[in-house]
Amino acid sequence: MLSLYNTLSKQKEIFNSLNPGKVGMYTCGPTVYGYVHIGNLRSYSNSDILRRYLEYIGYEVRMIKNITDVGHLSDDDVAQGDSGEDKMLKAANREKKTPEEIARFYEEYFKQAEKEMNIIPAHFFPRATAHIPQMIKIIKGLLEKGFAYEKNGNVFFDVTKFEEYGKLSGNTLENLKIGARIEEHPDKINAWDFALWIKAPKEHAMKWESPWSVGYPGWHIECSAMSTEYLGNRLDIHTGAEDNIFPHHEAEIAQTECHTGQKFANYWIHSRLLMVDGAKMAKSKGNFYKLEDIKEKGFSAMDLRILYLSSHYQSRLNFTWEALQQAHKNLQRINDFVLNLEVLTTRNTESTQTFNASAYKEKFEAAMDDNLNTPLALAVTYELITEANKKIDEEKLSSTDAKNILTLWKKINSVFGLILSGQAEIPEEIKKLVAEREAARNGKDFKKSDDLRKLIEEHGFILEDTKDGQKIRLAS
Ligand SMILES: [Zn+2]
Repeated sequence: MLSLYNTLSKQKEIFNSLNPGKVGMYTCGPTVYGYVHIGNLRSYSNSDILRRYLEYIGYEVRMIKNITDVGHLSDDDVAQGDSGEDKMLKAANREKKTPEEIARFYEEYFKQAEKEMNIIPAHFFPRATAHIPQMIKIIKGLLEKGFAYEKNGNVFFDVTKFEEYGKLSGNTLENLKIGARIEEHPDKINAWDFALWIKAPKEHAMKWESPWSVGYPGWHIECSAMSTEYLGNRLDIHTGAEDNIFPHHEAEIAQTECHTGQKFANYWIHSRLLMVDGAKMAKSKGNFYKLEDIKEKGFSAMDLRILYLSSHYQSRLNFTWEALQQAHKNLQRINDFVLNLEVLTTRNTESTQTFNASAYKEKFEAAMDDNLNTPLALAVTYELITEANKKIDEEKLSSTDAKNILTLWKKINSVFGLILSGQAEIPEEIKKLVAEREAARNGKDFKKSDDLRKLIEEHGFILEDTKDGQKIRLAS
C-alpha cells in the first residue's frame, strides 16, 4: 500500500482516492516570463514520478498543470498584495516582444524541457489568461458570502474569516503576528489578507474587465479556478515545490474551501528545493542553471533525471557537477546492463531459472510504497545489476533469467522514466586502442596485445575475448 507524506497532516498517510481507481491531481505550473530552471524541473519530475507510480499500482490518473501567463507575480514575490510590477510587460520590453509572444515562447520552452526530461505531459495545461471568467465567479461568490471585501476596485480575501487559515503551513494568524512583516496595501484590513483582484495601473499591459475595476487577478485565485474547473471541487492530490506552501497553497485552501464549503485537496505533496553548491539558485549569484547549461557541459536530460531520482523528494538536493558526473556513470551502468541482457536473451537458449527477479520487484515496490523512496528503489536496482552481472560472469544466467530481468526492468522503468541510449558509451580513443589490439592479435604480437589490454583496463573498461571477437564494456 502506498503511503505519502501529507504536508497538511504533517505525517505519512496511506493513500486512498476519492473515487475508486481514479486520481485527480493538480500541479502548480510555470510562470512564463522566464526560463524554467533545473530546480523547477526537479519539482515537475517528482510530480511525474508520483503520477507514474500511481499508474504503476493501477490508478487512472488525471493530471492538470497550469500555465501562469498573467504576468504580475513570481514565485519569489511575497504575493500577499501585489508588487504592482507587470513582469510580462517588463520581459516584453526587454526582449522587444508583445506580452503574448513572451508567454508563448516560455511556455513552449517549458514544454520542450519537460519532453526532454521524459515527464509525461499533463492531460491539460490551462492558461490563466483563458480562465478570467472562472476566477471572477469565485471572487463574486466569496464577496457574497462575506469572506472577501472590495475597496477602490481591489478585492481582498479576509483571512480572519477562515478559522483554519494556517493549517497547511503552520502560519496561523497567531504565529504570523510574531513573524515577518509584510508590505501593507493601503486598502487591506488585515496585513495577511491577500489580493483576489487588483485594479490595474494605466501602464499595465495585461488587464481585464470585472465588476470591480479593469484589473487582473491575484496569483492564488488562478490555481483555485483552474483546478476546480478541470478536476471538480475536491482533488485527491495537489503538488508543488516547498516554496509554494506559503502563501500560495495556504491561500488556495482558504479561498477554495470558503467558496465550495468542502475540503479542497486530500493530499498536499511538496518537493523540497534544489540547491546549487549548497546555496539557493539565483540569477544574481550566477548559479542559475537551465537544461541548456547541463547539455553544454556534455550531460543529458537523463543524467539529470537519474540525479533527481537519487535523492528523496522530501530532501533538499544539492546540485554539483560531481554529483551529475556520478549520476551519468550510474545511468551508463544501467544502460550497459540492459544492453548486455538483450544480447543474452538472443544468444543463450537455456531455460533454467536461477535468478529470483520477483524478490527485487517486491523490494522495489516496498521502497516506492514508502513515500516514494526513489533513492532506495535505485539502490535495489543497482543490487539487482550486481547480482545479475556476477551470474553473467559465471555464465550462470540463462536466457529465461535475462528475459525475466528485462521484463522487471521495463516495469521499474515505467516509474523511473529513464530513456536509455541503447548503446554502450565507448570513447573514440578507447575504440582506437581496441582496433589496434585486434590488429596486434591478428599479427600474433601477443606482447603488444597484452599491453594494450592493460592500457584499456586502466581507462576503466573491461575487454573480453569471445568467439565473436573482442567485447568491451565499462567496468562496474
Ligand atoms: Zn498554484
